[in-house]
Amino acid sequence: MSGHVLIIDALSNRRIHLRAQLDTAAYAVDLAESQMEGLMRIQDDPPDVVIIADDLPGLRLRQFCKTLRAHTRTQLTTIVVAVACENHSARVSALIAGAHDVIDHQSDPGDLKARLRNFMRIRQFTEDTRHQAGTDRLSGLAEASPDFAPKTVATFIASGDITDVSSRMSELSEETGFVTRIMSAQTARRQPDPDTDVYVLFEIGQSTEARDLLGALQSHPTSRHARILFVTDSTIAAASPLDLGAQDQVPLSVSPTELALRIRRLARRKHDADRARKATNELGEKAYTDMLTKLNNRAAAEEYLQKTDRALTDQPRPMALLMVDIDHFKAINDNHGHAAGDDILAHIASILKDNLREGDFLARYGGEEFLIVLPDVGAGQARCVAQRLRNTVASSFKAIEDGTHIRATVSIGLALVSRTDRKSTKDLRRAADSALYEAKRNGRNRIEMASDQDFQTLPPQHIQPVVKRLG
Ligand code: GH3
Ligand code: MG
Ligand code: MG
Repeated sequence: MSGHVLIIDALSNRRIHLRAQLDTAAYAVDLAESQMEGLMRIQDDPPDVVIIADDLPGLRLRQFCKTLRAHTRTQLTTIVVAVACENHSARVSALIAGAHDVIDHQSDPGDLKARLRNFMRIRQFTEDTRHQAGTDRLSGLAEASPDFAPKTVATFIASGDITDVSSRMSELSEETGFVTRIMSAQTARRQPDPDTDVYVLFEIGQSTEARDLLGALQSHPTSRHARILFVTDSTIAAASPLDLGAQDQVPLSVSPTELALRIRRLARRKHDADRARKATNELGEKAYTDMLTKLNNRAAAEEYLQKTDRALTDQPRPMALLMVDIDHFKAINDNHGHAAGDDILAHIASILKDNLREGDFLARYGGEEFLIVLPDVGAGQARCVAQRLRNTVASSFKAIEDGTHIRATVSIGLALVSRTDRKSTKDLRRAADSALYEAKRNGRNRIEMASDQDFQTLPPQHIQPVVKRLG
């Protein structure tokens, strides 16, 4: 993974030391001696990451971060502040001022590179999400109103001795407003907590339990969207926790204030991602749902037919396709009004839905027309299902707004293919259509089965409906 890094530091030995730590094959590294020079370089060629020394003469970090965030070209630039080793207050100040991360001037090269890789991944993810959604608001990436910001739930995981972890948890001041929990690594692995936003994993001593748990939490359906903050001093392990899936990492010497800041930040990112996911799912659902009946719509039906196209598979399954059309529906609209027509449509939709099995496919295919696919059924079974649907609709009365009880009927065209048939789903739909027209022609409220001929001929273009008043 490559990237462009700008180091801004007045001290040349620190600039050179930091540059030497970066693998220059993987990163293009630029250097600047002052804030002014740094800003000019940023303007000319925006880097992915800026590493800036906190003791830079005249530095106003808050303003610096604000400036970068305000411009489209540098909005996603990661700002990392380098501070003196173990200077807890400088670390906290930098994070509060708006830095994405803080490192020591003497940071470990492995840790630094893992952090850079992590920034690049986050940046890529953010860009992709924005791109897919088109706009921030659409994807739910826009900041939620603070009034609705959910509470942060943080679970501390102790492997081995629980006392240290539990005292760290109690050190987090009550002002954070976090809901905190403690859990053993074994419990977290077996039964992660569904409400947790951030898992705080402590690696104490030689145990590899915390690292093993990283993978388990990411793959468990209950915890895979939670964020993981890894607390460790170990830099000797081959892979960094950040490369193994943790989103943030701090040393064991981390101060309670910094820990709280990092937890809050991870939780906020998780809440943003939750909102974006929800918005995307809802959008997807809407695109494939008919709003009146809440059934699949025509677009969903076409996609389903395409996906299950027998002509495209080596192992075609037998299936039945039913076209169901409400009889004399126009008369219902004419006699009782469009709203009553809508009620009847929704009523029949729910009858069809309630009388199908899981795995069957049902969609509103047109105005008062439904498409049903029954996979893995033979002729007898398909006919039986069609009879049940027709009978249930015909014997059900629906009360409409004016108090009248209306009974509607449906006609059904049914087409079947066996395992050995080489017909496409398109042929099947066309044949079911022909059979439906046949059912209409033969008097309605009936089922017709497609013949071989129906598979060959196109459906009639126009059939004059026989308008009959329904009582
Ligand atoms: P047939 O027995 O031959 O199917 O007769 P029909 O009256 O059901 O068929 P026709 O195609 O003549 O009329 C269908 C009617 O369905 C016309 C249209 O206004 C109505 N329709 C289509 N979509 C909706 C809807 O969403 N709500 C309501 N209330 N009516 C709808
Ligand atoms: Mg009709
Ligand atoms: Mg129709």
